[in-house]
Amino acid sequence: MSVSAPAAPSTEPSAGTPGLAPPLAVVGRDVRVPLVTGGDIEYAALDYAASAPCLQRVWDDVAAYLPFYGSVHRGAGYLSQLSTDLYESSRATVAAYLDVRPDDQVLFTRGTTDSLNLLASVLPYGTRVFVFETEHHAALLPWRRADRVTRLPAPTDHAGAVAALDAALAADAGDGPRLVCVTGASNVTGELFPVADLARVAHRHGARIVLDAAQLAPHHPVSVTGLDVDWVAFSGHKLYAPFGAGVLAGRADWLADAEPYLAGGGASKSVTADSVEWNDGPARHEAGSPNVIGAYAIASACRALTEAGPAVLAAREEALAARLRDGLAQVPEVRTLELFGPESPRVAVVSFVVDGWNSSRFAAALSAEYGIGVRDGLFCAHPLVRRLLGARTDAPAECGAPDAPTGEQNLNAIRVSFGAGTPDEHIDRFLAAVRELVRRGARWSYRTDGGRCVPDADPRGPVAAAGVR
Ligand code: PLP
Repeated sequence: MSVSAPAAPSTEPSAGTPGLAPPLAVVGRDVRVPLVTGGDIEYAALDYAASAPCLQRVWDDVAAYLPFYGSVHRGAGYLSQLSTDLYESSRATVAAYLDVRPDDQVLFTRGTTDSLNLLASVLPYGTRVFVFETEHHAALLPWRRADRVTRLPAPTDHAGAVAALDAALAADAGDGPRLVCVTGASNVTGELFPVADLARVAHRHGARIVLDAAQLAPHHPVSVTGLDVDWVAFSGHKLYAPFGAGVLAGRADWLADAEPYLAGGGASKSVTADSVEWNDGPARHEAGSPNVIGAYAIASACRALTEAGPAVLAAREEALAARLRDGLAQVPEVRTLELFGPESPRVAVVSFVVDGWNSSRFAAALSAEYGIGVRDGLFCAHPLVRRLLGARTDAPAECGAPDAPTGEQNLNAIRVSFGAGTPDEHIDRFLAAVRELVRRGARWSYRTDGGRCVPDADPRGPVAAAGVR
């Protein structure tokens, strides 16, 4: 298979209604991919929840900076000083974007997983953690240092979530610090959690709260002050800035009192043969050479999203998400997964199963026959997806095996997600492809290879992209 970015005529199996241009330009918008059935087509990237494409603006900013790239906090040279200033001004931009409190710290990390593991590493002795079982594994699993982790069952509505947390905190006897970890928007259902209410309950019980904003931040501005959360974590690559950086922002005290997350240069102020004095401030937990390009890219994305107007972006996304959900609702074989019900506020993430179809085969056919990139699986939220599927076993069926007979449970799901770079016609093309696959079946046969569902005898050859080495 080869991938290119030309503008040649192509076979479009199902053209969508041309809509307004997406509000933000992204790199790769016109990339074309080959189809297993012949010809090529503009790639419809509908897996933003995994990684969003890079904003053109972010790419331009990074390209403009690259000639001036230098080491941060280390060199005496002009470019090193410029890069250090850029790194620190990126921190200030992110702080403003997140509307943090004056005493809060913004730390650059590798992403949400890294941010939450960092926070887990600084938990004061004896901390007890509370987390809903609906969380992404990045929020479920890092709390190994905690004295105890209480997993709250999947809530069925906002009021239930708040009441469950209230009851769990009230029933939890003992002194010592407590931390609640909650997602802003589910990476499976896209549904929003009542973060401000959960924060209020947590604080009423003297607990702190960290917000996993990996899926929320790309769709809504996150105000640390407004939501009154103690920390927030998110990833650059989901916020249109795929340069390897993420953010942990919030209260400084636990961070200041703990040993550095990573021991090494930058985290240390003074080192002798047998002693070390650790740095204060963000540097304490940012050992090693800082990722200035990643930090700058996130700051650039924050600026671009702010300038585009969060309300404008949200309104357009809501309209397109409604079109997507309405379209899926018209296919009787499709069942969408949700916790809180159809009226619940959500971001542009929808997971579903198709009756009579193995989800991996469905996703593989969307890719190979229609050039549409979605995701299939359990989305690193195994407890939640299994609960929503009613799955009784861990093992997804081989995708080359006959599909699950109509009415039988599916063992994994399909997720479609989009954002500010998605043109309307990609959603229309996706809906047309779903209808066609359900009505007519796949035109190709598929098999399981290395755990992935792949086309049998793929005529496109190995995956490659023109000019990418
Ligand atoms: N939290 C949520 C809700 C996510 O969706 C993800 C990634 O999909 C993560 C955390 C982990 O993010 P990352 O892989 O960038 O560390």
